[in-house]
Amino acid sequence: MTITIEHYINDQRVSRDDRYQDVFNPATGEKTARVALASRQTVGEAVAAAQAAFAGWADTPPIRRARVLFQYLHLLRERKDELARIIVAEHGKVFTDAQGEVDRGIDILEFACGIPNLLKGEHSDQVSRGMDNWTMRQPLGVVAGVTPFNFPVMVPMWMYPIAIAAGNTFILKPSPTDPSASLFMAELLHEAGLPKGVFNVVQGDKESVDALIEHPDVKAVSFVGSTPIAQYIYETGARNGKRVQGLGGAKNHMVVMPDADIEKTVDALMGAAYGSAGERCMAISVAVLVGDVGDKVIAALTERAKQLRITDGRDLKAEMGPIVSRAALERISGYIEQGVQAGAQLLLDGRDYVPTEAGLENGFWLGATLFDHVTQEMSIYREEIFGPVLACVRVNDFAEAIKLVNDHEFGNGVSCFTRDGNIAREFARRIEVGMVGINVPIPVPMAWHGFGGWKKSLFGDMHAYGTEGVRFYTKQKSIMQRWSESIEQGAEFAMPVSK
Ligand code: NAD
Repeated sequence: MTITIEHYINDQRVSRDDRYQDVFNPATGEKTARVALASRQTVGEAVAAAQAAFAGWADTPPIRRARVLFQYLHLLRERKDELARIIVAEHGKVFTDAQGEVDRGIDILEFACGIPNLLKGEHSDQVSRGMDNWTMRQPLGVVAGVTPFNFPVMVPMWMYPIAIAAGNTFILKPSPTDPSASLFMAELLHEAGLPKGVFNVVQGDKESVDALIEHPDVKAVSFVGSTPIAQYIYETGARNGKRVQGLGGAKNHMVVMPDADIEKTVDALMGAAYGSAGERCMAISVAVLVGDVGDKVIAALTERAKQLRITDGRDLKAEMGPIVSRAALERISGYIEQGVQAGAQLLLDGRDYVPTEAGLENGFWLGATLFDHVTQEMSIYREEIFGPVLACVRVNDFAEAIKLVNDHEFGNGVSCFTRDGNIAREFARRIEVGMVGINVPIPVPMAWHGFGGWKKSLFGDMHAYGTEGVRFYTKQKSIMQRWSESIEQGAEFAMPVSK
């Protein structure tokens, strides 16, 4: 019998929609379950549950809300590997990478546990005689998160720990490609003592997302996914009066300067280009090789990429797993063909890869792919491929490298490998990208710094998590107060000023 992955509303698993989507194990290619796709009516029920829970949760003292999250943190730490295995089974990333994903999610949860401190307002004594002015931050109400397939735990955890800690109630709409992790987290939150209706999950596709971004009781939407959908959700949500942040796609460059340590740079490129099969929004998909470093990097990289240990999540030494779906595999293979047709030099062709272990024959497998002499007008340079394909571009000098990166329409992450402090400093200041690494290939900011790209990688002005996350999920209220002893007699018609 096929397992059905359901919604989670008011602490109950619910399934009453008649549309479904198949869920696969990408390593074997077998169908493992089907996921329900919510109708507008089911989304309406989830919003009603979250709306009913809001007043009580918002009124709960922040320290008591934090205590529930501390208990959740404790449970999550205990059951972290179970959750990592769920990720492996539906996403395909290797087990150690899935553990890392859960750990980075836990970082945000730990940050959110400090909510009493994060919500402290500002107080000004004696703004006029006998009068004080202070600000406080209050929750918005029902807020929603729409998340991508590539981090089924970490990306939702960029959102809901802070949203809930701040006193909102939450609806998660995860990717239908790997939906099971959402229910695991929902049930653990319940076990931790979260009141019913505070955290809900609706599984679904466009219909459920549209229902969320149009619903009058949903006050804010956080989206993470591809750029066209990010832009659509940002524009539609804003038109419907919501606060929206839409994190989109990427094309991240690593600039390798002639003085870089070749061995360490190649190690960094390997992990950043092929880790998680290149299905990370912070993956490096372009290496910009400056001057005579190019030939040395290409020689070492080609040798190392040939040795990449590609197999399924059961192997704890695996470096790269399968691609998430057959459709993604076909899309990426199509890009490889476009690169060849456009005249890029294909040094390693991942389409040749065949898994050797029994049982993996029908999985969605692709090997590491490496292109040299890629140029700016090629589609493999311009567009997001989101797979294990690294494009190397040769440039003459630092200025050319900066211009290349700044001319790209995406601006999520970027990295520069060099031993020259002045180059590093100039790079960090002049590059038009939201997240920068200096000798750090994947500079995903820590929980308290906030995550977000520039240009077509982010729609909206506030970054995810960190203090910007707290601002996103709260609204400021300013209060001015005085008491009768300091109130002067008589009506005042002039604009009040400090006295
Ligand atoms: P996607 O855009 O296809 O899907 C993301 C979410 O949107 C899913 O929940 C999906 O069900 C929903 N969705 C899909 N089509 C929709 C439509 N027409 N209308 C409304 N909702 C729709 O992205 P994906 O393939 O799941 O994830 C990969 C993408 O996510 C890549 O582009 C990657 O760069 C991006 N990503 C960005 C970040 C970031 O922080 N900037 C982080 C992770 C992933």
